[in-house]
Amino acid sequence: MIKAKFWGTRGSIATPGKKTARYGGNTSCVEVRADGQLFVFDAGTGIRELGLRLEKEFRSKPLTVHIFISHTHWDHIQGFPFFLPAYEDKNQIFVYGPAGRDKSLDEILRIQMDSDYFPVELGDMKARISVKEIHDRFTIGGMTVEPFYLNHPAMTFGYRLSNRKQTVIYATDNEPYRYSLHQRPNVAVEKSDYPDYLDQKFVDFLSQADLLIGEAQYTLKEYESKKGWGHSPIESMVEFAWRARVKQLVLFHHDPLHDDKTVDRMVKHAQRLARARGGNMKCIGAYEGMEIVVGKSGKK
Ligand SMILES: [Zn+2]
Ligand SMILES: [Zn+2]
Repeated sequence: MIKAKFWGTRGSIATPGKKTARYGGNTSCVEVRADGQLFVFDAGTGIRELGLRLEKEFRSKPLTVHIFISHTHWDHIQGFPFFLPAYEDKNQIFVYGPAGRDKSLDEILRIQMDSDYFPVELGDMKARISVKEIHDRFTIGGMTVEPFYLNHPAMTFGYRLSNRKQTVIYATDNEPYRYSLHQRPNVAVEKSDYPDYLDQKFVDFLSQADLLIGEAQYTLKEYESKKGWGHSPIESMVEFAWRARVKQLVLFHHDPLHDDKTVDRMVKHAQRLARARGGNMKCIGAYEGMEIVVGKSGKK
């Protein structure tokens, strides 16, 4: 059984306020419990609330957390300095992610907490914090974690987390290669199959997931003026998830300009697209506080 809980569902920048209260204004953070372990995908502002919750749950007991950073854009790391379990010496925190283009992951996380930006430095946090750049599939207890490079203007990983029976995929901040071509017209490439080959690799990575937390930041119309920004229109996310025979797609990383009503419309549109393709893929919008259980008694 794998349980996922959403603490931050917004992309780009935190967007508090009445108009975004239902889907939530905190940036990317998803907690996953599996195999008796605690995994966290991204440390956007949502991780602050998760930290408070963990403090209540674990109190004086030691806590081990495995945090997977998709990439180091602010909306995916900005909550880390506010993650309370990192301030207690009883805790062990592993932070995994891709190396940056010209800086290490460790360096980037330290720079974010430089005294010009934040009053406490990373090295002054009391927990044992271990930052590891990863490249290939590895295991943590009974779970396998497989990183996969996404198409985004930063080194960005999607993650495939599996036990022997279930698979959850976290894949946010990704642009389909075929769509993004029009940003940089290149006739030779456009005529080739290469973009389709790369998109197919992504579909293969998603293959048969029980739960896919996938980015769908834009409507197709919005996407027209945002090609090359590294995000997906709903159409491609639904298409890829459907081709991969994903069982449940959760639309994630809502645009800061999208209020709750807009996200409602986008989710309905995605559901229509999924139905039109046939099959049983479930499709919902991620909201703060949402919990999904994969396996055992099914999904709730
Ligand atoms: Zn993002
Ligand atoms: Zn990004």
